Amino acid sequence: MNKKLLILLIALVSVLICLSVVTASDNNDLKVKSLKINKVKKIHTDSNGNTKKSSKYYAKFNVTSKSGSMKKYDVEIQCLDKKGKVIKTIKSHIDREGKNKIPLKCVSGVKSIKIKIKDDSGKVVFEGNTSKIKTTEKVTEDQPAKSESSSSSATYWASSNSNKFHNPSCEWAQKISGRNKVVFHSRNEALNSGYQPCQVCSP
Ligand SMILES: [Zn+2]
Repeated sequence: MNKKLLILLIALVSVLICLSVVTASDNNDLKVKSLKINKVKKIHTDSNGNTKKSSKYYAKFNVTSKSGSMKKYDVEIQCLDKKGKVIKTIKSHIDREGKNKIPLKCVSGVKSIKIKIKDDSGKVVFEGNTSKIKTTEKVTEDQPAKSESSSSSATYWASSNSNKFHNPSCEWAQKISGRNKVVFHSRNEALNSGYQPCQVCSP
């Protein structure tokens, strides 16, 4: 019985020693927090109304330097698929505190990442992994082509009190009251209705 207790005690002590060694090796300047994968979904609509979707992945994390003087560190990130297979390895570096965002140039199958940060002597100062994916959406849209928007000016305005027709932007067209306004959709339509082009705006 006593022997068993002794073995247990030795095991416990060795676990404690191991733990203290681990914390000692963690005793470096760099602190890395809130590691996650950022998936940026881009949805772009062009002037013809066609929608294009694409996604980009980034490794995002917060870095602080305990000493306050941040050095340059090498970063190695492995992109893993859902089976845990490495699909791409990214090499980069960080040299500033705060939020760091490293493009992962991975294919869409990335499900988790493993990250290693080394100092200039090659010593690993941080090692971590995450499968946390935060998705953000970016929606962009092209303005319709100029010719399309100007098609609305392909209407002509006239007053039922006169025989002139105008471009809607003409100062005389602006003076036509809504009650008297006659709208034509082509020059010919106005001419055929017996109207003459205004000499100021020459529609
Ligand atoms: Zn006019």
